Amino acid sequence: MTSDSTQQSAAHGVDVTALKGHIQSNFEKILAELTELVAIPSIAWDSFDPANLEKSAQAVAELAKTAGMQSIEILREPTDSGAMGAPALVAHRPAAEGKPTVLLYAHHDVQPPGDEADWNTPVFEATRVGDRLFGRGAADDKAGIMVHIAAMRAVLDSVEDFGVGVTYFFEGEEEAGSPSFRNFLEAHQDKLAADVIIVADSGNWAVGTPALTTSLRGMCAAEITVRSLKHAVHSGMFGGPILDAPILAAKLISTFHDENGDVAIQGLLSHDSADVDFTEEQFRVDSGVSDSFALAGTGKITDRLWNKPALSVIGMDVPSVSHSSNTLIPQMRFKVSMRLAPGQDPAKALEAFEAHVKSVDLRGAEVEFKPIEAGSSYQANLDAPANATAAWALEQAWGVVPVNMGLGGSIPFISDLSEIFPQAQILVTGVEDPDSRAHSANESLHLGDFQHAIEAEALLLARINAEGL
Ligand SMILES: [Zn+2]
Repeated sequence: MTSDSTQQSAAHGVDVTALKGHIQSNFEKILAELTELVAIPSIAWDSFDPANLEKSAQAVAELAKTAGMQSIEILREPTDSGAMGAPALVAHRPAAEGKPTVLLYAHHDVQPPGDEADWNTPVFEATRVGDRLFGRGAADDKAGIMVHIAAMRAVLDSVEDFGVGVTYFFEGEEEAGSPSFRNFLEAHQDKLAADVIIVADSGNWAVGTPALTTSLRGMCAAEITVRSLKHAVHSGMFGGPILDAPILAAKLISTFHDENGDVAIQGLLSHDSADVDFTEEQFRVDSGVSDSFALAGTGKITDRLWNKPALSVIGMDVPSVSHSSNTLIPQMRFKVSMRLAPGQDPAKALEAFEAHVKSVDLRGAEVEFKPIEAGSSYQANLDAPANATAAWALEQAWGVVPVNMGLGGSIPFISDLSEIFPQAQILVTGVEDPDSRAHSANESLHLGDFQHAIEAEALLLARINAEGL
């Protein structure tokens, strides 16, 4: 076999060079368009001007027109509380006979700026410094929108008979927790139905190393109240035979982890399945953990972050030190938040947690357990054909084999997508890298990775067009 024909068969009917060339020659224009999006402070929090969300929805609708979309709508649905949700763009290009449809998701809203004094460049003015573009939304997730726009323009210009159906779904309230998302999916299920869903709102393993995000932890939380007295009493008159509520709560809390620092709740799922790991040194730098602190838990750091449960106490109702007096505190309430391994049913996790709490001997003190929220985890089907096609596209774009990555946090809307569209193959991609600082001051986008992310999506669409799914 000549090297030419080897290259062609490796290309799966896709002209890799033409697509990359198209993106290269349009890259400055794409950056200019991204800069215009960054200039709109589209923040979906109540305390910010909602007119900017309308403006950014209009701006992405204009971009959709340049990407071959035939029906373009800005739609809203109410949240469960009855308030109207933020404007979302839904745009569609129908599939040719026999071709599949791909839904491309991103969000056009951004995080608030935080303290502007912490920024080295103007928050809403995309600013290039070296190989990065700084600004709120420059990465999360206006770059995700530009990946979808630019990839479509590349395939329409460079691929003959491109017949894959494409739907854009750019929501406007992701950073506010997507309050109308579920209702939106249910109301527009027909418009959004697809064979493959690409969510461009995550990141890559490192600058220069692409990744698919293939798992997300779930979460649940509970409020626990410990009571040993009907009312407060003098600590001198009654201290001794009676243990106060904070002491009892501390005794209970100390049972939540074993001597290694792993979560000690029986019956919770836990996997050792990460392909990659952080060095301890890198993790220490990224997290800012104290130098003297010995990291908790066992196994790879990535498994501890992605594939095992984690448990934190995130609030306590106790008198402050400045209001303390010589009394035995009769009751104490605290809130526990748990991150759950992919595949863990949050309701079962709460049952296991409650059973643990009730089993601890606190000398018969009253213990109340109140489950308060639960969010599903996500585990990609690694055998789905779109997964292999996406891995091929990422490798062609970056020239580096991609990593399957987990995410320690939760993206609840991904489980909504998989529940409403169970037949769709979901791919979670993105433009961020470990230095992107999404949500923080000095958010930025690596321009090389951004270009590769556009290439990868164009290559993926072109190969789906050539070979189907
Ligand atoms: Zn995002």
